[in-house]
Amino acid sequence: MPDSAAEPPHPAPHFTGLAVVGAGPAGLAAAVTAADGGLDVVLLDAADEPGGQYYRSPAPGLRATRPEALHHGWARFAGLTARLARHRDAGRIRHLAGHQVWAVERTGADWTLHAVTGPDGEGAATLRARRLLIATGSHERQLPFPGWTLPGVVGAAGAQAMLKSGLVLPGQRVVVAGSGPLLQAVAVSLAAAGARVPALVEAAGYGAYGRAPRVLAADPGRLREGIRHSAALAGHRVRVLTHRAVTAVHGTERVEGVTVSRLDRDWRPLPGTGRRIDCDTLAVGHGLVPQLDLAVGLGCGTRCGADGSAALVLDESLRTTVPGVWAAGEPGGIGGVHLALAEGELAALAVTEDARGGTRGRDARRMTVLRRARRRMRAFAGLMGAVHRPGPGWTGWLAADTEVCRCEEVTAGAIRTAVDDLGAGDSRTVKLLTRAGMGWCQGRTCGFPVRELAGCAAEAGAPDRRPLACPVPLATLARAARPEDG
Ligand SMILES: Cc1cc2nc3c(=O)[nH]c(=O)nc-3n(C[C@H](O)[C@H](O)[C@H](O)COP(=O)(O)OP(=O)(O)OC[C@H]3O[C@@H](n4cnc5c(N)ncnc54)[C@H](O)[C@@H]3O)c2cc1C
Repeated sequence: MPDSAAEPPHPAPHFTGLAVVGAGPAGLAAAVTAADGGLDVVLLDAADEPGGQYYRSPAPGLRATRPEALHHGWARFAGLTARLARHRDAGRIRHLAGHQVWAVERTGADWTLHAVTGPDGEGAATLRARRLLIATGSHERQLPFPGWTLPGVVGAAGAQAMLKSGLVLPGQRVVVAGSGPLLQAVAVSLAAAGARVPALVEAAGYGAYGRAPRVLAADPGRLREGIRHSAALAGHRVRVLTHRAVTAVHGTERVEGVTVSRLDRDWRPLPGTGRRIDCDTLAVGHGLVPQLDLAVGLGCGTRCGADGSAALVLDESLRTTVPGVWAAGEPGGIGGVHLALAEGELAALAVTEDARGGTRGRDARRMTVLRRARRRMRAFAGLMGAVHRPGPGWTGWLAADTEVCRCEEVTAGAIRTAVDDLGAGDSRTVKLLTRAGMGWCQGRTCGFPVRELAGCAAEAGAPDRRPLACPVPLATLARAARPEDG
């Protein structure tokens, strides 16, 4: 049962030494390490169970007997959750599951965190902490194409999440497409779970990894993972098509097939190369994007990552540019579960050092090891980002009537009119003229494509700015503005 059920609707602000937002691999590793070091920790997560995206567990009601069957490295997760339980029982960690933090603000020397709770977000919680660690992970990047709004088109990472948490397949015959190493994991999981996967369609080419042999050699684990996935794909008879993309989806009520076209090196479709593949589902994604709303709201500095998306500027101790705020895992750039685990532990040791005003010898040695591992894994992450960064020619897939902003139903044609005829030179002006990005998701899905269509060089890799990290009921906002009434 999540702790949220036991929370009063408006608990008095609870003070804690360290607040960790996000209980994925990074946040979980951070929370237990900080508690080991004697800090009083609160771990908040929007989900009901810890584990984040990688260690996503089947919903308890499904009574899965072997949840580890869909995961690699489950023993590591089991070890972390056992430590979490021990610290929770000893009162060193409060785990607030089902708490989605919508804003953090500076209150004197502390941070005040505001969260919504409960299935409809009608509950609220506020707490204060001296130090803050942001481990909010990432979300999937989508590039639109003709037909992507048809039922049967799902996110590739979303399909993986559906399988891990709901134990269901998105379809029987699934084409997996887009770009990035996650596609291989998704295709293998779907095929192993019984789906027919006729093709994995990758817009980039894996050969580009070979141009950085030293980076590859420094991270042999990733190389082994790639080989393991390739062997599994071959075993399941999944055709791997590189330098290609899905440029159209066919079907009236739902997906019946897709057209796959060859791309040039800039991801521009080559005319006359389209081939149809029959399928009932398309699982598509073009990498992941760091989840930065809370950090950007606090003024943390960002940089443009090799994959073209914004990531936090962090030092060797994973401090952000705002004193008192650390970050670990995907907010610092997309890099995978092992990097997230190492960064979570490193950030917690750095916070503990800050709280104590010094480091114990054993912790200092551990930090040296973790920093070395982090540099190696970050180098590989940079290579991965550069290889799979969307080429500028992807906009050649779009037809005038392709919806780019699904929430507000704004088409590529309308955005091009705003840019070419009405003089919009940046995505904010496009938004004001067309409403693209004004809907429920607040531009999380369409932000990247709208920026690319606006063609404003200064916006490349710039972070989105959203004062609220998730939808918040007006009543909750009003109470947060006048806490004495709560
Ligand atoms: C949908 C999806 C599926 C993925 N599946 C795989 C996979 O199968 N294999 C693989 O190798 N990699 C997968 N990844 C990549 C994976 O996320 C990372 O490798 C790894 O989990 C990163 O760990 P993390 O702790 O940085 O982030 P995450 O695991 O994403 O954890 C972040 C946590 O923060 C919480 N959170 C975010 N914002 C808030 C907020 N405002 N308030 C409270 N809580 C918040 C989230 O609920 C989440 O639990 C997936 C990514 C996504 C987006």
